[in-house]
Amino acid sequence: MLTKEIYERCRKRALKFLKKAKIVITEKEKEEMEVAEYGLGMVDKIGLELIVYVNTDRCCAKELILFPYQTCPEHRHPPVEGEEGKEETFRCRWGKVYLYVPGEKTKNPKAKLPEGKEKYFTVWHEIELNPGDQYTLKPNTLHWFQAGPKGAIVSEFSTKSRDEYDIYTDPAIKADLERKV
Ligand code: ZN
Repeated sequence: MLTKEIYERCRKRALKFLKKAKIVITEKEKEEMEVAEYGLGMVDKIGLELIVYVNTDRCCAKELILFPYQTCPEHRHPPVEGEEGKEETFRCRWGKVYLYVPGEKTKNPKAKLPEGKEKYFTVWHEIELNPGDQYTLKPNTLHWFQAGPKGAIVSEFSTKSRDEYDIYTDPAIKADLERKV
């Protein structure tokens, strides 16, 4: 559960990463940062901090802040109401992130998963993103990502974001995520 204490701790820690990366955000954005805890009670391992810059009917832009080895769990964005699912582009701004997509399994992948959760990560084609690198995912493609040892800041550009429809591989993750307290 995302308690006020966990939310504040993650928010403050994420602000330090943004400062290190010299990414300027407004006071309002600092206050409105979201923390995705996924209901798993292991936010430092499976979790994500995010700032939504824009989310209209046509486009969405977010800053994702990941602590060292913090993981966004495997999911996909299915078609909704006759529209294709969300298309996403991830661009690494700071640190390093390992993105996993369908395809040939990478030998000796760099990501380390929390014990007991390995089975909910099924795609293992690794794409390493360093600052300035980006990758575009087609709608409805399974994906997950984990920050490297320093953490990471990733800009996400996408079509409309409707988090409540996202499908997670781990059945313990509720679709309608609680992100803010
Ligand atoms: Zn996604």
